[in-house]
Amino acid sequence: AEAFNANVAAAKALNAFIVETPDRAIEAAKVADADRAAGTLKPLSGVPIGMKDLFATNGVQTTAASHMLEGFVPRYESTVSQKLWDAGCGMLGKLNLDQFAMGSSNETSYFGNVISPWKRNDGGNAALAPGGSSGGSSSAIAARLCPAATGTDTGGSIRQPAAFTGISGIKPTYGRCSRWGIVAFASSLDQAGPMARDVRDCAIMLENMAGFDPKDATSLDLPVPNWEAALSSDLKGKKVGIPKEYRLEGIDPEIDAMWDAGIAMLKDAGAEVIEISLPHTKYALPTYYIIAPAEASSNLARYDGVRYGLRDLPQGAGLQDMYAATRADGFGPEVKRRIMIGTYVLSAGFYDAYYTQAQKVRALISRDFTAAFETCDVILAPTAPSAAFGLGEKTADPLSMYLNDVFAVPASLAGLPAMSVPAALNREGLPLGLQIIGKAFDEQGVLNAGLAIE
Ligand code: GLN
Repeated sequence: AEAFNANVAAAKALNAFIVETPDRAIEAAKVADADRAAGTLKPLSGVPIGMKDLFATNGVQTTAASHMLEGFVPRYESTVSQKLWDAGCGMLGKLNLDQFAMGSSNETSYFGNVISPWKRNDGGNAALAPGGSSGGSSSAIAARLCPAATGTDTGGSIRQPAAFTGISGIKPTYGRCSRWGIVAFASSLDQAGPMARDVRDCAIMLENMAGFDPKDATSLDLPVPNWEAALSSDLKGKKVGIPKEYRLEGIDPEIDAMWDAGIAMLKDAGAEVIEISLPHTKYALPTYYIIAPAEASSNLARYDGVRYGLRDLPQGAGLQDMYAATRADGFGPEVKRRIMIGTYVLSAGFYDAYYTQAQKVRALISRDFTAAFETCDVILAPTAPSAAFGLGEKTADPLSMYLNDVFAVPASLAGLPAMSVPAALNREGLPLGLQIIGKAFDEQGVLNAGLAIE
């Protein structure tokens, strides 16, 4: 824990942490020592981890990287973080993220962007995005500031930053991890999961994060399998589907080459590889960017200056003025954009044309997967259409930022488990990730295919 604390302190320039809690990591290490002496070691005794600052942590500021929640100190603990403390973990600190988890580069954080520890091999020193929204998590793990961290994934926020920084991350089946105590973005999509250096660490972390929680109405009432014990890269008898609609026109040939290399690795592991079709893929991105903002506009209505965090009360102002001033000041531009899109697609007159339509298409996307999984066990695809891009490269054009989520959002809309594992380095020496999408509840199949690639 001391060594990790020292690394965190030395790597301030990456801006991966919003708050550091070195004492908590040391305390867990001491408890681990005592437990070892007493023969009562827990599964993750003494392991120092980073906690995405979207998880409420009792007594430690929880901001969602927003000005709105700056200084907000919850008096309760999220279910997932509590499970990790119960398993013996210690907290190194709260990790930076895109504001309210909205973004793909960690540049929407009120506390400043995060820098990836990776550099292009052109001899230059250009700062690269660590991906997002879990960019503090990905950067901290890639820079060896922590062996593992929590992430959340609404439309790729675990997988895309993992791909950008050469680490692994899994979004489990929707409902596996309790959402209780996690700042809500889009409740029908939000799912917590681990990010770590490799597949095995992800499996161990996930076992200690997942499980039924009566406090979350969408929590899965299923036992948590022993994923780590059943890890196997032997894929004999397994069928891997390659969705032909994911072969995007105009995509960097290096992405396709990495994908083909992954196919070869899975064949070497004994799998049979077949082509599949997910015909509604091209509607996934617009569907996601209707449903996610719609739910966000509703979830973020609670930040009104009355109940949580910031309150701007200009002299002589009334209640409406307080709402307006607080929300104008507390939310960043991307969050405001989402609230406006969400409010628009939910408004009378547009509701059926946008929101209802998006829900229908979401069902079709789900059905595509159900049909595909009648002929294959897992699906292999790129995680993202590019390697890490430079900071500032996409901030002026939100659409180009949204396009980076093209491969990530379909599995989110269908609630399926999906993982990113590092698969190759591109010509600039930057990591590229491959994504494995599994059947609902089949995290094991996803982890095993991941193991065969990493
Ligand atoms: N990049 C996506 C977005 O901006 C996904 C974010 C997430 O998964 N939290 O909405």
